Amino acid sequence: MDKIYLDHNATTPVAPEVLHIITSVLRDQMGNPSSVHSMGRSARVLIDEAREQVASLIGASPSEIVFTSGGTEANNLALLGVALGARTGHIVTSQVEHPSVLNPCRQLESLGFVVDRLRVDELGRIDLQALENCLTASTLLVSLQHANSETGVLQDIEKIGKIVRKKGVLFHTDAVQSAGKIPLQVQDVPVDMLSLSAHKLNGAKGVGALYLKKGSPDLFSPLSGGSQEKKRRGGTENVAGIAGFGKACELAQKHLVSQKCLSSLRDHFYQLVSDLIPGVEIFGDLENRLPNTLNLGFEGVEGDTLLIGLDMAGIAVSTGSACSSGSGLPSPVLTAMGIPYDKINSSIRFSFGWSNTTAEIEKAAKILAETVSLNRTGTFADMSNKKLMKSL
Ligand SMILES: *Cc1c(COP(=O)(O)O)cnc(C)c1O
Repeated sequence: MDKIYLDHNATTPVAPEVLHIITSVLRDQMGNPSSVHSMGRSARVLIDEAREQVASLIGASPSEIVFTSGGTEANNLALLGVALGARTGHIVTSQVEHPSVLNPCRQLESLGFVVDRLRVDELGRIDLQALENCLTASTLLVSLQHANSETGVLQDIEKIGKIVRKKGVLFHTDAVQSAGKIPLQVQDVPVDMLSLSAHKLNGAKGVGALYLKKGSPDLFSPLSGGSQEKKRRGGTENVAGIAGFGKACELAQKHLVSQKCLSSLRDHFYQLVSDLIPGVEIFGDLENRLPNTLNLGFEGVEGDTLLIGLDMAGIAVSTGSACSSGSGLPSPVLTAMGIPYDKINSSIRFSFGWSNTTAEIEKAAKILAETVSLNRTGTFADMSNKKLMKSL
């Protein structure tokens, strides 16, 4: 059975060019980049090249890129790095951040830092006035995401950055979901730190980066060891992963010009789904959204039931329900948007990628309609069947 992968916000397939570099580095470049001999120097060159490619994707300079083990570590480095460097103070974030922002904030709270978590409206957007009101003389850092992984909703990081900079506070943004999907240049946004992850843009898992603006205060390094990454992140570099990350950023930069393809694929899918299935609702701001993400609720049916039904038909998606998050709690993102529990439990996230074809999404829409119809009960079932019958 051919699989149809519609879960690109969870992870993406490694691009063939990236795979080629990773395997050839692992095979042919065994040197430690810190070694002085030629084998070490040649590994160092690979990292330097990747640093340029990653920097170029976001318009940064190579010296502003700190390689990490992924988006999680980049977020931890930003939050813990600033806070522990200052020893005490106030941090502002939001209720809809990734766990790799929320959990370090919780840790900092337990160490005595004060954390404010901004609410979002029903579209998933932060209130800029509330942000401004929140900033105090002891605020060290504001950490607000660029794009939400569950809904694709974009925050206005340009306006946020302006507000934050005016108060002389540092601004970090988690751009793991937006980088490579929409244009993002650090010189256009007043941002001091920005997190990236390779595996969300067709690189390998276990590698990422933190952009750290030139002239930023020294960070406390949660991973201290050797003097790699100018002592901001100790440990022998993941040379192959980093080289692949560089290539992935170069490819993403090329793909950016054709981002419309991705949104038209998604919108085509939504059109088919809403034609075939009654009682479908979109969650999140449609105006300010990633081109590849679609979060839908299906009235009268459990998201988890749909996920399993789709999986058996070879279609990979994810849900915002309590069950699949493993936490026993429904999606905090949709909850913060004020969406009722039963609707959250009926939600499915579809996230598209470069390899998806029109044929695939047409097939997926049809299978989805059948799966919904099969699993709906009561009045919804009748509605579903009628609509499906009419369309066939
Ligand atoms: C995936 C993701 C992360 C974590 O990145 P990893 O490289 O998997 O650690 C952080 N933030 C967002 C928004 C993500 O989607």
